[in-house]
Amino acid sequence: MAAQPQARSPAAPSVKLLVDGRLVESATTEWRDIVNPATQEVLARVPFATAAEIEGAIASAAKAFVAWRETPVGARMRIMLKLQELIRRDMKKIAACLTAEQGKTLADAEGDVFRGLEVVEHACSVGSIQMGEHLEQVAGGVDVYSVRQPLGVCAGITPFNFPAMIPLWMFPMAIVAGNTFVLKPSEQDPMTPMRLAELWYEAGFPKGTLQVLHGGKEQVDFLLTHPDVQAISFVGSVPVAQHVYRTGTQHLKRVQAFAGAKNHMIVMPDADKQQVINNIVGASCGAAGQRCMAISVAVLVGEAKQWIPEIADSLKKLKVGPWNDPEASLGPVISKKAKERVENYVAIGAKEGAKLLVDGRGAKVPGHENGNFVGPSMFSGVTPEMTIYKDEIFGPVLIVMEVATLDEAIDLINRNPYGNGTSMFTASGAAARKFQHSIEVGQVGINIPIPVPLPFFSFTGWKGSFYGDQHAYGKQAVKFYTRTKTITSRWFDSQEVVSGPNMTIRLK
Ligand code: NAD
Repeated sequence: MAAQPQARSPAAPSVKLLVDGRLVESATTEWRDIVNPATQEVLARVPFATAAEIEGAIASAAKAFVAWRETPVGARMRIMLKLQELIRRDMKKIAACLTAEQGKTLADAEGDVFRGLEVVEHACSVGSIQMGEHLEQVAGGVDVYSVRQPLGVCAGITPFNFPAMIPLWMFPMAIVAGNTFVLKPSEQDPMTPMRLAELWYEAGFPKGTLQVLHGGKEQVDFLLTHPDVQAISFVGSVPVAQHVYRTGTQHLKRVQAFAGAKNHMIVMPDADKQQVINNIVGASCGAAGQRCMAISVAVLVGEAKQWIPEIADSLKKLKVGPWNDPEASLGPVISKKAKERVENYVAIGAKEGAKLLVDGRGAKVPGHENGNFVGPSMFSGVTPEMTIYKDEIFGPVLIVMEVATLDEAIDLINRNPYGNGTSMFTASGAAARKFQHSIEVGQVGINIPIPVPLPFFSFTGWKGSFYGDQHAYGKQAVKFYTRTKTITSRWFDSQEVVSGPNMTIRLK
């Protein structure tokens, strides 16, 4: 949930707003510290934008839209190509900033930037993905064609866990399609999105095409209810996604809201054991479990249950450490509150009767005693009624459940209210085919633990993990950020004989 503003370190450098193409100091009195999760060092302070500042950003975006929508598609694509070049150039610097404010390891931070860069690369081909359709001769001399036109000012609200990738899911696609955009990144790590926004203008995008505001609930609600904002793209936790979807649609906006998850991996006994262990360990505890596509539940079918002790041993071997430890497999969680929350879930699991095989509470990293480190934890003997199965923990906690058959495993997953991602490890094509066909989850991996689609496709969470219709990036994003206009046309030949009034709606 949105952290409340707290002005604790007035001496720390301030994060700027990006309004009308300029970096501006906010006039607000509400600030929040941005803290390095590994050290508690205050890196900067972020403003909670005032109503006048948000109003100004929306007005600037609305003004910029008038000229931007007329900019030829080739020119838009060319500037986007420049942006991808600049992100590549600064990849290491962006990753260093990301790791400092978010905590993930440097290698994972580069992955975060890279997965966003892939969307930018795909946005460079908007000419073909925004293309309409054309059918000739639907009646005598009559042709029909459709075009996709931009909506106007769109807004995006992003979470803390992917401060590069998720903003890049949104504004490049929206703007390259002809819209202008107001971004409200997470108040917990807004410096990385600011770096991307600065590159935006260095690439040559016209002033006002992208605005960046900071804040929490109040600032988000301002965007959700403002009459000049046409579409809202949101990524975050379930309660906030529901609030955003309800409020945005009540205010007659187009909304896509990506929410939390509980992702299962089915392990068949015919799978390669070492592949299973390596992939479960990485997919559950990579990024300290703070991925919406993390595998948090391993469903072991039949004899695969024999591998439980070896999975636990591998988890125990993972090294927890800060960004500058090249051997660290997982960094700290984002905040003291998040650490407390994860450790509390481990306590609840043990209290509710699950078997705690690995206990990551109280992890200590020498030299970083103040960091928000939580080691990997693992439970077996978990049942669907337990709190640790029902809630999204969003930390390095793996839950293991045992079932007798593939059908039981599929049924368990289909009864879960979330549907972001799932995966299966097996050597059987028939089992994999059954799984992919009948599983009620929007993103499916077969011998792939975290099946995040590349941008030629879209990010297609289902059920309680997504509210809306069109998904993020790829062709679905172009549909989300545009509306279809269909034109039916006929050109008269001067030789044509006029046959009197046409009194029907039939095309001849
Ligand atoms: P969050 O919901 O706390 O915050 C997300 C954004 O919403 C932030 O910008 C925040 O300022 C704003 N916000 C917070 N509370 C608000 C409120 N009451 N009203 C309006 N706006 C509010 O999420 P988080 O902790 O930053 O991110 C983690 C969550 O995001 C997890 O649940 C994770 O599963 C989810 N997530 C989902 C996906 C996906 O694609 N489905 C991807 C990444 C993260």
